[in-house]
Amino acid sequence: MGLRNVEDLIAAGLVTPDERVALERVASKYAIGLTPTVESLIDRSDPADPIALQYLPTAAELIETPDERADPIGDHVHSPVEGIVHRYPDRVLLKVVHVCPVYCRFCFRREMVGPQGDGNLPPAELETALAYIRSHTEIWEVILTGGDPLILSPRRLREIMTALATIPHVKIVRIHSRVPAVDPARINGELIDALKASGKTTYVALHANHPREMSKTVRDACTRLVDAGIAMVSQSVLLKGINDDPDVLAELMRAFVEARVKPYYLHHPDMAPGTGHFRLSIAEGQAIMQALRSKVSGLCIPTYILDLPGGHGKVSIGDGMLSEIEPGRYAVTDRNGDIHHYP
Ligand code: SF4
Repeated sequence: MGLRNVEDLIAAGLVTPDERVALERVASKYAIGLTPTVESLIDRSDPADPIALQYLPTAAELIETPDERADPIGDHVHSPVEGIVHRYPDRVLLKVVHVCPVYCRFCFRREMVGPQGDGNLPPAELETALAYIRSHTEIWEVILTGGDPLILSPRRLREIMTALATIPHVKIVRIHSRVPAVDPARINGELIDALKASGKTTYVALHANHPREMSKTVRDACTRLVDAGIAMVSQSVLLKGINDDPDVLAELMRAFVEARVKPYYLHHPDMAPGTGHFRLSIAEGQAIMQALRSKVSGLCIPTYILDLPGGHGKVSIGDGMLSEIEPGRYAVTDRNGDIHHYP
C-alpha cells in the first residue's frame, strides 16, 4: 500500500509532527507517495539521505520563483488531442495515466500527476489518441508515459499494446517508468507478457537517480525484462544533494550497465514549481559530466540534456550547444538552429 499522506509519514517516523502544518500545505498542491521498497531504502539516521530527499516532502517546495512554470517543458503547446504530445515529427508521447507509485519531489509534471492531477485518460479519449497515431503515418515511435504506465494492470496494458499492434507504421514502443526501481515485484510474468503483446520492439526507460536504488531485487526485475527481449535504457535527473557528485553518478551508471540498462539521459532539473532547492547551475552540471567522463567507460555515459521551457524540445548541453551570455544566463541552440535564452 505504501505511504500516501502526511499522517502516514508521521506515523512511519519519517517526518515530525512539528512539520505537519507546512507539509499539509505542500500536500494540498503536490501528491505524496512512497512504496514499501522505497521506505525500506531510507536511512533514518541520515538527515541528508539521498533516497529520503527524493520522496519526502519539505517546506522548501512552498518557495516558487518567477522562472518556474506549471508546464515546464511545454507539453500543452504540442498536444493536438487529449493524451498525445507530438513535439518531434517521428514520435509521440501517449500519456495514458496520471498517477504514479511514488511521487518524486522534483517531478517535472508535478502539476499534472497525482490524485489531484489531470486524472487517467478515459476510454473515449484513449480511442481518439490512438486514432491520431493511426492517422499520422510519420509516427515511428510511441512513448507511453504519464504518470507511470506500469502502474496500470496487466489487463489494461495488454489492451493498449494490442491496439498499438494494429498500427503498422509504429515500430517502437517505449515505456517510461520508475516501477522496476520502486516496486520491482510488479515486474512479473503477466506484466511482461502484456508488454510484449504489441509485437513491436519495446524499450523500458527506467528512472532512477541514486545507486542505492539499484538493489539486488531491482536488478533482478531488470533481468526479467531484458531476458524477455525488452530493451532497457535509463533516465536520471541531476539533483543537488542527491547525485551531484561524479563518484555517485559513476556508481549509478555502472549499476545500470551491469543490469543491461544502457545509460540514456541525464536531465538537467526542469523549472517545475517549488523545485529550486534541487537545481544546480548548468556550469556545475557540465563540470560533473566532464569528471564522470574521465572515470567511466563510454558505455556508462548518458547524454546530459536540457528540456527547453516552452516546448522547444531537448538539447544536449554537454557539447557546446549553449553559450553564457551573462553570469547565469545562456543562449541555447535548439535542434532547428533557433536560439533561446535560459532561464
Ligand atoms: S514517477 Fe515520474 S511522473 Fe511520477 S512523480 Fe516521479 S518523476 Fe513524476
